[in-house]
Amino acid sequence: MDENKQFVTDMRFHLVTLGCQMNKSDSERIITVIEQMGYTWTDNEENADLLGIVACSVRQKAIDKVYTKIHKWNKWKDKRNLISFVTGCVLPVDREKFLRLFDLVFLITELQQFPEMLHQYGIVTPFSANERIEPDTRGKESEAPDFRTLVFDHHKTIAGKPILMKKPETGIFEFWKVNPQYRSEFEAFIPIQNGCDKFCTFCAVPYTRGREISRSGTEILDELKQLVERGYKSITLLGQNVNSYGLDKKGKEISFAGLLKNIGEYGNQTSRDFWVYFTSPHPCDMGDDVLKTIRRYKCLAKQIHLPLQSGDDKVLMKMNRGHSLKDYLGIIASIKKYLPSATIFTDIIVGFSEETEEQFMNTWKVMDEVRFNMAYIARYSPRPGAASARWEDDVTHAVKKDRLLRLSDLLQQHSLEYNKKMTGRKYKVLVTGFDRQKGFLSGLTEGKIIVRFASENIQLIGEFVEVEIISAADFATEGKLISVYNTALTEA
Ligand code: SF4
Repeated sequence: MDENKQFVTDMRFHLVTLGCQMNKSDSERIITVIEQMGYTWTDNEENADLLGIVACSVRQKAIDKVYTKIHKWNKWKDKRNLISFVTGCVLPVDREKFLRLFDLVFLITELQQFPEMLHQYGIVTPFSANERIEPDTRGKESEAPDFRTLVFDHHKTIAGKPILMKKPETGIFEFWKVNPQYRSEFEAFIPIQNGCDKFCTFCAVPYTRGREISRSGTEILDELKQLVERGYKSITLLGQNVNSYGLDKKGKEISFAGLLKNIGEYGNQTSRDFWVYFTSPHPCDMGDDVLKTIRRYKCLAKQIHLPLQSGDDKVLMKMNRGHSLKDYLGIIASIKKYLPSATIFTDIIVGFSEETEEQFMNTWKVMDEVRFNMAYIARYSPRPGAASARWEDDVTHAVKKDRLLRLSDLLQQHSLEYNKKMTGRKYKVLVTGFDRQKGFLSGLTEGKIIVRFASENIQLIGEFVEVEIISAADFATEGKLISVYNTALTEA
């Protein structure tokens, strides 16, 4: 054994996750692989021997955070040994810069090779020890690839021999096979697809995550069944463009509606109670088959998140959304027809490049017509790497702020109107935690409307309860606890 090599004993790691739910879900698998290497988690990054970031390239702010962290960590390197890495959504232009700052830069699709990458730094993990340190393989070590410089280069050679780095297409399938360390004991996210083919002009995802790849339907169903058997009650199918699931397989995989149907059939067979959500779908791939399937099965939650982004056809075209306002409103009409009890959420961007007051008002009118239960409204800011970053960001900060406030006011009215209609009615609620107000618990209805009720019974967290709504506020309701579905638990 090389005396300079360190075995992973009592070594700690800390991981910083930036960005969306997809990154959070990826972290659950990254943590598994690091723990399998013998590291233990520390909340305090100052005590960590291995420091990592799951990066997000959606906004400059998130990229700035990566630089702040790595500059701080690199200063610590003067005093002690530590290894740093970055993975996640990284633009090609940032990869080059990160390679000069981090010890390791790799794609999530290369996660399985992490033990080998660490081995290049003299860190011997159980995996790399088994695979690489046997005396008869030592002679080959000098030819081992330098992963620090080879990452993202699948065609590099050493001594004229090609380096067998796994391609993202195969790496993502291995990544999905890793058992995640779920953060919650009742709520989980299942990645069903990676990447995006839509190329919206404001978004960098197709450049950071690549083209769409769907996970095996059997594997998704297996992960879901395991979660349900373990008592999970809220399960969200995740994808950048979740309802185009299966299309990349050109008939060799079930469709998104087919996947939902298989989940629904399982839901009918099991005695366990659970809700299944999905996010984020694209209007272009939202057919009636999906809505009819949701209507048929109890476990498929009656809540639809359908990004609008803009209510103006010219802006939609400039965003390369691939559909018209008429198409969008047609889907909303179908949702109201097939799923009349469903709540509808959306995403909207205000102040997109060259958006006029008239175009903004078209968005306002759509909001007024649809009456969303929730809208995530963002002020447009050019995202590095996205096509629109080349265009002038000419709507002033003040105008964007004003448009956001006007939409927020409207949303508030619609939400209150809906919540008021809930009063006097009983709802099944999944208790998610403590409310900000002492003595209250908080939870979500199937339609993801927030409900709080007086109780300090910690055992109810993660359980379904029945609550009668007694009052409504802008984005939440208050109720009184009627009963607990799990009769083994009694109200404290
Ligand atoms: S559909 Fe558009 S916004 Fe969504 S991930 Fe793909 S490119 Fe980005």
